[in-house]
Parts: sequence; C-alpha cells; structure tokens
Amino acid sequence: MKRAVLTDFDGTVTRTDVAEDLLREFAPPEWWDVEELHRARKIGTREAMVRQFALVRATREEMVRFVDAHVQLDETFPPFVASCRRRGLPVEIVSEGLDFYLVHLLAQWGIDVPVRTNHAFIADRRVRITYPYADPTCDLCGTCKLRRLFDLRVAGYRVTYVGDGHSDLCPAIEADEVFAKKELADLCREEAIDFIPFDSFADVQREMERWP
Ligand SMILES: [Mg+2]
Repeated sequence: MKRAVLTDFDGTVTRTDVAEDLLREFAPPEWWDVEELHRARKIGTREAMVRQFALVRATREEMVRFVDAHVQLDETFPPFVASCRRRGLPVEIVSEGLDFYLVHLLAQWGIDVPVRTNHAFIADRRVRITYPYADPTCDLCGTCKLRRLFDLRVAGYRVTYVGDGHSDLCPAIEADEVFAKKELADLCREEAIDFIPFDSFADVQREMERWP
C-alpha cells in the first residue's frame, strides 16, 4: 500500500502561525474581528485572508525581516521528512499561508518539499492575494487542501494529514489518518473525527514508524 503525507505549514511546521504573527505586527487590531468571524465559521479562509491582509501596511523586506527574527521551525520536521524519504513516503505542504514567507523560510531551513499555497503580490506597502490552488467549485478556501488529498488518492495513495487549525478541517474529514493539535484537535472532537494528538513531528514520526 502506498502512503503519502500532507501537512499544514503555519503552526504545524512552524511553532506559531506566521500569517497571524504578521497581522499582529503589521495590521491594526481589527484583523482579529475578521479572525473571529472565520473561527465562528461565518466566513471562509479565503475571505478572511483577503480582509485581514488588506489591513497590512508593510513592505516585503520588512515582513521578511520580521519573519527571520521571530518564526521558529519545529526542528523535528526535517528529520521527519528524511524518515519519510527513506521509507518512500511523499511529503507535501498544503497551506493557507502566503508564498513569500513559506518559500523564504523553507529555503533558509534547507527543506525541499512540494508546496501548494496562496500567492502574495506586495507593492506600495500593500498585500494582494491570489489563489493558484483554489477549487473553482468552492470559494471558502484559498488553497484547496482537499483537492490535493483527492488527487493523491486517485493516484493510489492512502493519505495521512497533519495540521493544527481551522483550514485543516476539510482534509481531516477525508484523510485516512489525522494528526491534530490545537484548534484542529478541538474541531475533530466536535465533529467526531478520529485523530492522533501530537505536539511535534517527532511524535508523528514515532507513531508512523510503527505503521506497516
Ligand atoms: Mg495551521
């Protein structure tokens, strides 16, 4: 049986949610009102991101400098990726974050895995977002994580999903196995979705190495 791993990035590969860190630093406090609507599932991730990042006033350089100074990697992620490679399991990132910091951070950390995320166009201290991986039939999310999961399944893979937040609920409903922490763990409990709790990728690795 073939198995693949899909993982969230913000708050899962990184210790904190980078998009939220950036909003806290570069947007006025109103971004949180939008976040509450999102968490109450009154608006989708796509609308939340657009409205929140429309409040940001910063250059790409300022944001990259901030990210370099503040964002922490889960240091057990690179060994987890190496362990999956040894066993022939593809690992991919599906993210509702923004490409400019994802690509930058992964390069800094020397992590080379496929990434599907939203595109940020930054000019005149403003951020515009486009969605190269959206599902045309659903406007709730930017990057459709579920679509990638289905593509992998059609290609014959069982899919293990790893995540921490609201944008991970769709793929968690469909995945064959789910590792969840923080809000995603709460959502899985509410929705009666089986999941394995984890704190870092060391936990995920330890568990998965026991699987056939
Ligand atoms: Mg997350």
